[in-house]
Amino acid sequence: MKLIFEKSVPNRRAVHTSQSDVPTTINIKEDFLQDSPADLPELSELDVVRHFTELSRRNFGVDSNFYPLGSCTMKYNPKVAERIAAYPGFAHLHPLLPQLRMGGMLTQGALGVLYEMDLLLREITAMAGFTMQPMAGAHGELTGIMIMAAYHADKGNKKTTVLIPDSAHGTNPASAAIAGYKVVSVPSNDKGIMDLDALKSSINDEVAGLMLTCPNTLGLFNSHIKEICDAIHSVDGLAYYDGANLNAIVGKARPGDFGFDIVHINLHKTFATPHGGGGPGAGPVGVTQKLLDFLPVSIVVKRNDGTYALEYDRPKSIGYIAPFYGNFAVILKAYVYTLMLGKAGLERVAENACLNANYIRKKLTGPYTPAVNTVCKHECVFSPSQKMLDSGVHAIDVAKALIDRGFHPPTVYFPAIVKEALMIEPTETESKETLDAFIDTMIEIAALAETDPDRLKAAPVTAPVNRPDETAAAKNLNVACL
Ligand SMILES: *Cc1c(COP(=O)(O)O)cnc(C)c1O
Repeated sequence: MKLIFEKSVPNRRAVHTSQSDVPTTINIKEDFLQDSPADLPELSELDVVRHFTELSRRNFGVDSNFYPLGSCTMKYNPKVAERIAAYPGFAHLHPLLPQLRMGGMLTQGALGVLYEMDLLLREITAMAGFTMQPMAGAHGELTGIMIMAAYHADKGNKKTTVLIPDSAHGTNPASAAIAGYKVVSVPSNDKGIMDLDALKSSINDEVAGLMLTCPNTLGLFNSHIKEICDAIHSVDGLAYYDGANLNAIVGKARPGDFGFDIVHINLHKTFATPHGGGGPGAGPVGVTQKLLDFLPVSIVVKRNDGTYALEYDRPKSIGYIAPFYGNFAVILKAYVYTLMLGKAGLERVAENACLNANYIRKKLTGPYTPAVNTVCKHECVFSPSQKMLDSGVHAIDVAKALIDRGFHPPTVYFPAIVKEALMIEPTETESKETLDAFIDTMIEIAALAETDPDRLKAAPVTAPVNRPDETAAAKNLNVACL
């Protein structure tokens, strides 16, 4: 496809206005004026509309197709949440409007949303308070680890290490390292969960805390969770819950009840809001009572007269981690979503997310090899079967063949503890018909691996790009080749 610049025709115009009958005055100094007009594409309005419509058709999204990208929770997002987030009273709110006096009433609704979402998340997670500021899951992790560091510094604890299981999302060790901690990786056992004995032998006085994703990236809930939190607390460590994929347990179980001290939630995964292409996101962080003082500024407080205000005067706070209200629209959509579903609806989210994942796990076991063949939570992980591997067909070939068949590939080659991983997260919003179509397609691909592996190696044949060098594509982006 040609770039819009390549479609440019000299002097072609999209908009024609009548000749101005008022004199032109330019008050810009000569030095600042360009010698020649900017080199922008010159096109008719129809050229522009067709160009962008064609591009939009190449976009892949949940609104058009199934998107079982493991760990990313690419689920359908109700349009009502988008509509409410677009209300002018919210969308046009300037972040610098005063909170009270003059114009202050204009901000009260938005501050109320932040305040009430904090209360809802406390109820959902059993935490004592939240910051709504972090703008992604990884940003929430960093915030949480900085709170952990502030807690230890305040107590005079000498801590150097954060424990993280080997199945963790890559952002966990990155966040701990940025906060200045040494990361010690704890191995998983043959059941696919963090090994309890290995954890216990890694615990010493240097341990600041543990970062745990539960259910983990294999979709497995760690049944020793209480014992794990107790062990961490025995050295005054803090237990950090990576709640990016809270849809696995939302409404059913609460990290605070397991013994966790810090939780981040990806509102852009569990609570509506599409997050394709890396954003937008919101990763609120909740903490227990003893950590409340360390939360970042600002915090929305409710005054005695019922009005809301942003509070900045918090001497032990870790400080600013984001400006103004955080990623407000994402929080607002999550608020709409949570109120719309209510407690019963949120419980159904967890039930259906797990049911759908287990349906796929059962149906694909045989044609594919499950990483662990036990009941999972919200996602399941496979490898291609030995027969497929013997035919030279790899996880990447399955992923590419799915593109030709109208499905987004699952997450591949992650978690790293599974060889040739295909990590499938169907989410709670998909129908049985869609799951069946995906399962049939996966089985068809497995069969083709034996009869005609070369066809799979050639996939995708329907996409504008076949198999780019992914590293080069990231480091040396050249969209013109599309
Ligand atoms: C997605 C995810 C993250 C990171 O969230 P981002 O918003 O992408 O920064 C962290 N942990 C887990 C388990 C995740 O699935």
